Amino acid sequence: MDALERVAAALATAPAVLIGGGAGLSAAAGIDYSGEAFRRAFADYIARYGFSDLYSSGFYPFPTEAERWAYWARHVEYAAVKPPAMPLYVRLLELVRDKEYFVITTNVDAQFEKAGFAPRRLFAVQGDYREMQCARACHQKVYSNLDAVKRILAATRDLTIPESLTPRCPVCGGRMEMHLRMDEHFIEDEKWHKAARRYEEFLSRHARGEIVLLELGVGFNTPTIIRYPYEELTFFNQAALLVRMNQEVVPPRLPIQSRTVNLAEPMQAVVSQLLAAKQKDRSAGERA
Ligand SMILES: [Zn+2]
Repeated sequence: MDALERVAAALATAPAVLIGGGAGLSAAAGIDYSGEAFRRAFADYIARYGFSDLYSSGFYPFPTEAERWAYWARHVEYAAVKPPAMPLYVRLLELVRDKEYFVITTNVDAQFEKAGFAPRRLFAVQGDYREMQCARACHQKVYSNLDAVKRILAATRDLTIPESLTPRCPVCGGRMEMHLRMDEHFIEDEKWHKAARRYEEFLSRHARGEIVLLELGVGFNTPTIIRYPYEELTFFNQAALLVRMNQEVVPPRLPIQSRTVNLAEPMQAVVSQLLAAKQKDRSAGERA
């Protein structure tokens, strides 16, 4: 049995699937953070500020709030408003929708939600491009930034906006910040805590039984959120299978090689093949 067959077999029988989505998943899905589409959409920013990719540009020390929000509006529009549900995410849902599944992700582009994953089965740990918060977290609430983004995009001239359009905290009047975990002021609001509890509940129900851990495009930026906990779950559960889809194969820190499958082939192809195996399996079952 090759690696892919082993994963297909485990997905056919395991009642539970835990998905961990990292940056590599959205990259494989076609959200372009540093390639040609990025260079086209941000040509003026690249020329003025020397940006090389969408991730590091978010940390650029813009000289004014007006320039900073003009930039973020473009970023939000590009990465979270404009893209439809990407086919890779839609196929992933197809693969697990009849399972007890849960998704934990460090991605902030709302792709799981757009693809139709149930919100109560989703935990976006690091925030959401479509939200903002008080920069110094004076109160524990997050706000949609979509209206502000629309107004800012319409008013942007020469990469800046009128000062009056920069979002302000409705409580303290101070600066607003994107709701992304960039510093210690990141707000974990009621919705965040509810999702965290649902993740805990999922683990307490399924972490000891037959389970497939699909770790998708998770690197080493924040390994303590998905990568290391998944290795531990696999270490303590003989009935777990850890499936790592990543172009870069890094051996696990724990002795779990026999319960780990590494798939370094392009994720689109792997997921399509798993889906084909599932459909074949299902039609065979119907004929029987
Ligand atoms: Zn405030």
